Amino acid sequence: MKVKRFKQLLKIYTKLPLPREIWETEEHAQYVEALHNDKECSELYKKHYIKEAGLNYKKYCCIDMAYHLVEDAKPLKRDEINYDAVIRYCKSHKQFGIPIHDGGASYVSIRYCPWCGSKLKK
Ligand SMILES: [Zn+2]
Repeated sequence: MKVKRFKQLLKIYTKLPLPREIWETEEHAQYVEALHNDKECSELYKKHYIKEAGLNYKKYCCIDMAYHLVEDAKPLKRDEINYDAVIRYCKSHKQFGIPIHDGGASYVSIRYCPWCGSKLKK
């Protein structure tokens, strides 16, 4: 799939809920294939997803860090835990960490990005 077509479909396919008659098409299958296997398309999708979440990927060491922080940035009710978050940023300690899903807000702090290996800034 060409990147230009992927960009067009990205605008359509990211508006949820997506009706079954759309996601059962060959074009949607090609879109998903490009999303997972074409680096340029994958990055376009991640940038879109990050922007929709209100984050600026340029503030992070890499697009993957920003992409995975979207889950952590989702607003939660008091004492609610987001079990989908694989990385978190603790504002009070100004550090990144891997959440421990033990029912609390614990995490293992990390000093290097798990995706790009960069030393993380506080
Ligand atoms: Zn990184």
